[in-house]
Amino acid sequence: MNKTRVRFAPSPTGYLHIGSLRTVLYDYLFAKKSGADFILRVEDTDRKRYVPGSVEKLIESLEWAGLKWDEGIFTQKEIADDRATVTESVSYPGTFEAGEYGPYVQSERLELYRKYAEELVEKGHAYYCFCMPERLEELRNQQSAAKQAPMYDRYCLTDLSQEEINKKLKEECPHVIRLKVPKDEIIEFEDVVRGKVKFNTNTTDDQVLLKSDGFPTYHLAVVVDDHLMNITHVIRGEEWLPSTPKHIILYKALGWEPPKFAHLPLLLNPDKTKLSKRQGDVAVEDYTAKGYLKEAIINFVALLGWNPGDGETQEIFSMEELIEKFDLSRVHKAGAVFDIKKLDWINSEYIKRLSLDELHEKALPFFEKKDFYINAPTERKTDEYLKKVLAIEQERLAKLSEVGESNRFFFQDIDYAKELLKWKESSEEDTKASLQKTKDVLEKISDSDWTRENLQNLLMEAAGEKRGDLLWPLRASLTGEQKSPSPFEVAWVLGKDESLKRIGRAIEK
Ligand code: GLU
Repeated sequence: MNKTRVRFAPSPTGYLHIGSLRTVLYDYLFAKKSGADFILRVEDTDRKRYVPGSVEKLIESLEWAGLKWDEGIFTQKEIADDRATVTESVSYPGTFEAGEYGPYVQSERLELYRKYAEELVEKGHAYYCFCMPERLEELRNQQSAAKQAPMYDRYCLTDLSQEEINKKLKEECPHVIRLKVPKDEIIEFEDVVRGKVKFNTNTTDDQVLLKSDGFPTYHLAVVVDDHLMNITHVIRGEEWLPSTPKHIILYKALGWEPPKFAHLPLLLNPDKTKLSKRQGDVAVEDYTAKGYLKEAIINFVALLGWNPGDGETQEIFSMEELIEKFDLSRVHKAGAVFDIKKLDWINSEYIKRLSLDELHEKALPFFEKKDFYINAPTERKTDEYLKKVLAIEQERLAKLSEVGESNRFFFQDIDYAKELLKWKESSEEDTKASLQKTKDVLEKISDSDWTRENLQNLLMEAAGEKRGDLLWPLRASLTGEQKSPSPFEVAWVLGKDESLKRIGRAIEK
């Protein structure tokens, strides 16, 4: 039996789409689970959509995600282990190709596509088409006016004689090669996710295979490459499902065995429309920029269309667990709603699991972008101070971009109306006395005893039955806010001097 081989075949259009991350993650999980080879191939034949630098960026994003592939295109680091066939990429300097089935960049395989396109013409499965864009546009307009689906009318197949064709070729008239889609046929295949899928070929247009610039279309290139690279499983988004009958027609025409197909459910906005840039971010880097952790993004994306089933309620999965539990046949058919609240929850779970040192390291770049941090006095920018702030915030953070946002009083001087200090019906005198009392308690605590536990114990003891009377004015004097973490936590972060200073100022008020 052939070795199982699965590929991720992105087009370099500028960034890693969150849907592509799901596809590549499922490729990876499937490969790990089944011991398959995992190949990265770059589909860069659509020159209009190509964005310079995006191939390199794409590889970096995949490396960032930690999804290792065995074959295809790599950056130097990736192929440090000595592979037999490493070559420097001609198209994308700074990247390397490794594997027996290269080149893994489609724009370097143009001769192959031409060869198969011409073979298809010879065998009568494809034909030259010399129609100019103007004619095609007019045809489309007529069809849409008559409420018909746009389809090429086969003018060049039926109305041109062989002599005319030869003459035009000799004169180098611009032309494409089109697939001659057989009429009145039912194309049927077994999709790993969707089960039996059927298409009537009468609704399938005579797809262009080779464009006038000599580049193949996706349809020709994907079939040729998946075949020549011995790919056994094609995992891709549902948006490619309507293309699959064309691919199957091509496999048949070329006398090749098609791979197994698994079409992953569409990603939907909460209103069930297709996930789009207009309703939110779609690039993976947008999410990391907002302070979502890699592990959380991957965990979330894994659940977009899959769960372990059998009443399992587990939602947090390590990569090892995903590999162990993932099963392609468990992928859902129904569209997967992209629920940002769920991502927030998963992210908060991962944030809780970080050590303080890790959290500090990851949060620092986000602090460094905030004015309240930039303008804070140096003693409130130390690692030690930030770690205290983070220790308080860790349990409540949904994403790292929120660090410090709701607790700016840790960094800035505060200002507030003196009414804030009053607890319920308390009088001004009571409030002042209460603040004086806390001040006395805190003054007696030495710097080395200034711990969260001590502060809590001593202040609770001083407050006795009437907690609010003591704790509210204290908390308000330290934060200047209606809502904040507890006064013990705030006092602990601020330290003895700053806490006493703030209480002193409140007493003056
Ligand atoms: N190049 C296609 C894309 O950009 C690949 C589709 C497929 O996997 O066949 O998604």
